[in-house]
Amino acid sequence: MTTLLEVQALSRDFGGVRAVDKVDFSVNEGEILALIGPNGAGKSTVLNMVSGVIPPSEGEIRFSKQPLTKVAGYDYAGLGITRTFQNLQTFDDMTVLENVMVGMHTKSSASLFSCGMNLGSARKEERLMEERAKEWLAQVGLSQLRTSLAGSLPYGKLRLMEIARAMVAEPRLLLLDEPAAGLNHTETADMSSMFQKIRENGTAILLVEHDMDMIMSIADRIVVLDQGEKIAEGTPREIQENPRVIAAYLGT
Ligand code: ADP
Ligand code: MG
Repeated sequence: MTTLLEVQALSRDFGGVRAVDKVDFSVNEGEILALIGPNGAGKSTVLNMVSGVIPPSEGEIRFSKQPLTKVAGYDYAGLGITRTFQNLQTFDDMTVLENVMVGMHTKSSASLFSCGMNLGSARKEERLMEERAKEWLAQVGLSQLRTSLAGSLPYGKLRLMEIARAMVAEPRLLLLDEPAAGLNHTETADMSSMFQKIRENGTAILLVEHDMDMIMSIADRIVVLDQGEKIAEGTPREIQENPRVIAAYLGT
């Protein structure tokens, strides 16, 4: 099994508060690793460090053996890491298709356009990007809504739109922060099968989520955080039976 992401002794302080404390874990190529724990456990902070939104206070993050902690300003999407956020990040007055295409501009052509690529190939590139965005909209079941303004869509559809946006960059690792929050049972089930398809296509997923049915049915392994520390790691079954996890999180 090949390690894709490796996190070692990762820590983050906010003022005097240690939000993440010497956390170790890895994500293998093509697996779904779930990161769970009570509110305030440090899950979003871990995702923020892995996606380069904030720097770690201490520790190492390696992606495909390449250290990400030492150099600032990486193009994370170009490297193969994309994410969704705990709160929706959508452009209400843009169409669904345009919202999804935003996910590509981070990766490919923005710099090519600005440094004088000729118009013909720029148009070709734009068309290819649009095709890929349409394919992902079809994958998440939003084809028919692609010309609608994002602001007119219900919440559950916007969540799916964000996943399409993260996938058009064709990441090797997809980071998801509570993607099922606020979704109903059917929407959550649809999203679970979406994640399984994404994994089968070879993209690994680091999933922060509270929906235990989702986690237990799709995660290959689970890492549990509590007050910034890793308190357990194992298969869904091992985690469900772990006394420390039950006391800190599952017991209530
Ligand atoms: P989770 O996602 O597991 O609910 P977070 O990673 O959001 O937890 O937060 C972990 C801890 O770090 C919490 O105590 C939170 O208040 C604190 N924290 C997170 N982000 C910031 C920030 N930008 N400034 C100060 N404190 C923060
Ligand atoms: Mg969070």
